[in-house]
Amino acid sequence: MKINANYLNLKDSYLFSTIAKKVNAYTQAHPDKNIIRLGIGDVTRPLCSAVIEALHNAVDDMSTATGFHGYGPEQGYDFVKQPIQAYYRKRGVELELDEIFISDGAKSDVGNILDLFSKDNTVLVPDPVYPVYVDTNIMDGRNILYMNANADNGFLPLPDENVHADLIYLCSPNNPTGAVYNKEQLAAWVQYAKECGAVILFDAAYEAFISDNALPHSIFEIEGAKDCAIEFCSLSKTAGFTGTRCGYTIVPHALVADGIELNKLWLRRQTTKFNGTSYIVQKGAAAVFTDEGQKQIRQTIAYYMNNAKIIADALDEIGVWYTGGQNSPYIWLKCPNQMDSWSFFDYLLENANVVGTPGAGFGANGEGFFRLTAFGDQDQTAQAVDRIKKLLAK
Ligand code: PLP
Repeated sequence: MKINANYLNLKDSYLFSTIAKKVNAYTQAHPDKNIIRLGIGDVTRPLCSAVIEALHNAVDDMSTATGFHGYGPEQGYDFVKQPIQAYYRKRGVELELDEIFISDGAKSDVGNILDLFSKDNTVLVPDPVYPVYVDTNIMDGRNILYMNANADNGFLPLPDENVHADLIYLCSPNNPTGAVYNKEQLAAWVQYAKECGAVILFDAAYEAFISDNALPHSIFEIEGAKDCAIEFCSLSKTAGFTGTRCGYTIVPHALVADGIELNKLWLRRQTTKFNGTSYIVQKGAAAVFTDEGQKQIRQTIAYYMNNAKIIADALDEIGVWYTGGQNSPYIWLKCPNQMDSWSFFDYLLENANVVGTPGAGFGANGEGFFRLTAFGDQDQTAQAVDRIKKLLAK
């Protein structure tokens, strides 16, 4: 027996455990201090009432012989795929129902999609970015190339013709930087992917936070993207499903490699290794796309985006450079006075009792930057921002 030795190449993820350790140590030494957390990537507002009602009704369905649901279609029920199809149609994107796959979240799909690709492929990943892209490829032993995201390119790297890649990860709106690609920039990526014969893995987990109508929510808003892209999306941040679990992945029929539709491979993969998202959760997910559900989730998103504005306005006021916050719940700021990410973390914790996330935890280019999130309580956010403003204005 041999283990998959690639796992030994994974770096231990110290980011959130180190943050927790530092915060615990500080709280123990200063029990009287009120610590405010603006570092969390999890949502805090409850599920909206349309979803709760649908979940309750689905539980009741399960209590009767006629309403009971056992194994469902692995790729999801039509009653949730149809509203997702309509949601895309509103943006001018036509999808076949069997191009939509329902899952228990984007993280699983982002990792599982790699089953479809040879381990010989070269992967292109932005730095900094959501760490799952890197770790899942390390597990398979793939060659990883990084593209530099930095203040000069607004944390939105564009294709470099001198680099060849087979798989390209794009995350827009980006975690952790909050930066969002425009249509021209995504079109450049689509063109590059076609020239390379590459597949774009597009993570749209934060699309619902885009407020600028000119910005694309889906890679499929770009002409020709169906030939070269797979899209992942999630209800986690859109509708507070981080603990309820539901996402969806779009694999277009037009995406063909080695003469084979990747849609067929993904269907085969899912029907073999996945038994579907629970009926109850899919009922809750379908409620997100009703008129009532959409109205209610927009209110919650507006609540978070108001937090983002509170943070962004304060940074503007004190002249701190940042990206994000306008079309994304993340604000990515440059640490003042050339401080490195962890020094700034300590400085904020000790002097403002505010917790954020050091940018260095998301990749080498994150050093010197810091992530604040808009997912907290409004009063707490305002209080934290007030403290940061007073501290940094000094
Ligand atoms: N993609 C990005 C960019 C994320 O930031 C996250 C969660 O933080 C996910 C995917 C995971 O989403 P899910 O909760 O649907 O697994």
